[in-house]
Amino acid sequence: MLTVKEAFNVIINETRQLGEEITTLENATGRVLAENITTDIDMPPFDRSMMDGYAVRSVDVHSTPTELKIVGFIPAGEFPQFSIKRGEAAKIMTGAPMPAGADSVREVELTRRSDTTSTVQILEPTQAGQHIVFKGTEMQKGSRVLAKGTFINPSVVGVLATAGKPRIAVFRTPKVSILSTGDELVAPSEKPGMGQIRNSNSYTLHALCQNLGVESQMLGVAKDERDTIKQKIEAGLSSDVLLISGGVSMGDLDFVTDVFNDLKLEVYFEKVAIKPGKPTVFAKHQNGLVFGLPGNPVSSSTVFEVFVRPAIRKMMGFSNFRHKLILAEITESFVNKSQREVYHPAITFYKNGQYFTRPLMTKGSGDITGFSAHNSFLICPRENIKLSKGSQCEVQLCSFYDLI
Ligand code: AMP
Ligand code: MG
Repeated sequence: MLTVKEAFNVIINETRQLGEEITTLENATGRVLAENITTDIDMPPFDRSMMDGYAVRSVDVHSTPTELKIVGFIPAGEFPQFSIKRGEAAKIMTGAPMPAGADSVREVELTRRSDTTSTVQILEPTQAGQHIVFKGTEMQKGSRVLAKGTFINPSVVGVLATAGKPRIAVFRTPKVSILSTGDELVAPSEKPGMGQIRNSNSYTLHALCQNLGVESQMLGVAKDERDTIKQKIEAGLSSDVLLISGGVSMGDLDFVTDVFNDLKLEVYFEKVAIKPGKPTVFAKHQNGLVFGLPGNPVSSSTVFEVFVRPAIRKMMGFSNFRHKLILAEITESFVNKSQREVYHPAITFYKNGQYFTRPLMTKGSGDITGFSAHNSFLICPRENIKLSKGSQCEVQLCSFYDLI
């Protein structure tokens, strides 16, 4: 049986970054740039005032207070056609171009002006360059401002807008299909009859994809019949990622792996030494990834976080597709009685300068309610390890929950 690390490496080695597509600025956040971005302008495009105040010559205001003649008004968006000469100043607004001759700005708070005169009193000296951002300080025309592979966060969107890129090349996001298997499953809108339960996994997996910014389509629920499962899986093979929940354990009606073989998928592994989630299957169809996830809701979500999320992120062009791991102090002791690496749902929080993690007392891998409070996974190494209260342990943070 593969260790978590081995299984992770197999999946990542078999996962390819997808091709490119064009998107718009409005839809770019959360994606990864597939091109280098150069800018067609200097930023700022002119020497720009950072303050509402007066554009002055610093030599004129060496000793203050001093009175200067106001020779103009420069709002943002206009280019001054006059210059400042000895003893003169111009009223200037934040974002407006500096007039020729002036070398600094005195903010309005450090000036005094009466309504009746066309002069202003400057109350404190300025340094040459004060409160000016010079042309080209932030961006130089023709230079590269963003590299291919950059994650497009909201401020990167601002850079793209400034650089004049309303449309940009990004890596494609995978098309994901989700199939749940199980004779016992009914829709959330239905009241389960005898022996039945509601299908939660399809919706949780859909939500996990949504959180990644990835579209997924639900292929519904397949009965535990080999032919039905085969048909539904075939329908999902055109996707970049096919997620199948249930039917991968040792039960008499667990046909998913048999169907993978019927369909001649390349199966890389059928079990991983992870708890929960041992019966995890990974297969490929051409370049499409196929995951057989255990039906227990906690297991399928955990396996998604450990294996599926990084693979999807790699497809999307992320170079940092791996999990976010931190060290935290465990607030109560935790014992791993299994021979597998445990990913236990936990609440991790920051207090007095360090992280703490509290393992959740869930009622097992079906306990979706207890599990829903987690914001992280406490990682406990294989083989009868006891993590004593107060010791340091590794924690995998979930990107979609706030730390408390
Ligand atoms: P399986 O992996 O098919 O043996 O299922 C393991 C457990 O998970 C069983 O108790 C199933 O009823 C439950 N289960 C399977 N699929 C789902 C699902 N889509 N939603 C909620 N529970 C499920
Ligand atoms: Mg089942």
